[in-house]
Amino acid sequence: MIPGIPGIEPQKLEKWEPVIGLEVHAQLATQTKMFCGCRREYGAAPNTHVCPVCLAYPGALPVINEEAVNLAVRLGLAVGCAVRPFSRFARKNYFYPDLPKGYQISQFDEPICEGGHIDFYLDGGDFKSVRLTRIHMEEDAGKLIHGSGEESYVDFNRSGTPLVEIVSEPDMRTPQEAKAYLDRLKQTLIYTGVSEADMEKGNLRCDANISIRPRGSETLGTRTEMKNLNSFRGVERGLTYEINRQIDLLESGGAVLQASLQWDDAAGVTRVMRIKEEANDYRYFPEPDLVPLMVPAERIDEIRAALPELPSAIEKRYADEYDLKVQDIHVLTRTPQLAQFFEAVIAGGVSPQLAAQWVQGEVLRVLNEERQEIADFAMPPDRLAGLIGLVDSGTINRNTGKAVFDDMLSSGLSAREVVDRDGLAQVSDSDELRLIVRSVVHEMEVELARYKAGEKQLFGHFMGSVMAATRGKGDPRVVRGILQELLNADG
Ligand code: ADP
Ligand code: MG
Ligand code: ZN
Repeated sequence: MIPGIPGIEPQKLEKWEPVIGLEVHAQLATQTKMFCGCRREYGAAPNTHVCPVCLAYPGALPVINEEAVNLAVRLGLAVGCAVRPFSRFARKNYFYPDLPKGYQISQFDEPICEGGHIDFYLDGGDFKSVRLTRIHMEEDAGKLIHGSGEESYVDFNRSGTPLVEIVSEPDMRTPQEAKAYLDRLKQTLIYTGVSEADMEKGNLRCDANISIRPRGSETLGTRTEMKNLNSFRGVERGLTYEINRQIDLLESGGAVLQASLQWDDAAGVTRVMRIKEEANDYRYFPEPDLVPLMVPAERIDEIRAALPELPSAIEKRYADEYDLKVQDIHVLTRTPQLAQFFEAVIAGGVSPQLAAQWVQGEVLRVLNEERQEIADFAMPPDRLAGLIGLVDSGTINRNTGKAVFDDMLSSGLSAREVVDRDGLAQVSDSDELRLIVRSVVHEMEVELARYKAGEKQLFGHFMGSVMAATRGKGDPRVVRGILQELLNADG
């Protein structure tokens, strides 16, 4: 079956097949920069984390940051790459004002990691595995800041920040697959601690390559490349736009020109930045200031042994042990901290289903409203477990439970303390409830007669009146039983 793509006519997709490959740059979560001792810090005053090396003073020499190498290897092992025992840095030469050396130290024909794959489930539940070509290490450029007039400024704090570039094979077929790939990659970076992977801070940037070919064809079409997409939503929208544009171009007899494009998110269109350069335009050559990078086998083994439980394994465990749905699992495993919180609620004696409901419902609602992370969340998981226990046992009902939840967040009290303070416990004493039910039914003579004459749908009306008489504190299960008994009694 041909996968549909929202925003593209199905007839177009019957004839044409989109082919997508992604290049993702991720800043590594190191203390210091790639080739010097400057601190890697986002948001510092401009040009305060700089030195002769990252400013390219003559004679300054780079030194490889071992922490960065370890993180690149860690990522490679997490996604099944082969790690090269010997790899090499290379100079990629080009001119731009944010690049003080006039070249970027990158890796070319001997990258640190090769092969591997990123696996994920699509929303519909289909499994997809995207092959990786390579992961190589390089350094980030500085940052240009454009003034209100003609002038621009440059901040070299970012210059020399360690990066990995993760290059995929052209294995994706829809913008939705590209989005799911990015979600899984970002999640893997976060779980392994390789990158903070925060797009708002520019930790993660994506170039999306896209071409079209007649469905059934094995050869690749000419591609365009959208540069520096800085949101996953932008990737999805940009790809959809570009697929439509290329199909329309080919159908009207034109040809796709290999080019670098800029996605304009506000206008919702792509614009040509430059006609595509070839690799040989960069005049790559081995970096003469650095020796080949050696990663001993023992180091690789150590890093492999220290890998945490990875998202795909956690997802499998949640499906097998907790019997949760794919969508719920996606939400609950978004970050390791959220997954840990969820598991701690279960450890507090709550069923996985109830824990999933409360974490996704109440906890994530508050985090979204307050724009907080789970690490900032004021209620410890065992306290939430206590609350869920009170609801589950019928001490309070679900609605009261939600109010108690909000109260706990502001008061810092436990669920039991809030319930006792406000006298919220449900009345489940049947003698007390029986008296209330009797007096309410007694008042409702007319309805009682109609009910007895066969209007059974009035039951809900009786329930409502009794619950109101208990001011919501009657245990609905007990009330229901007593009502049924009374209404259906003879005479
Ligand atoms: P470059 O380094 O010049 O950007 P690469 O050959 O390394 O070029 O490819 C970069 C990315 O483009 C890879 O992710 C690859 O999968 C993807 N790609 C290559 N050819 C195509 C194509 N015809 N259609 C879609 N994606 C492609
Ligand atoms: Mg590229
Ligand atoms: Zn420096």
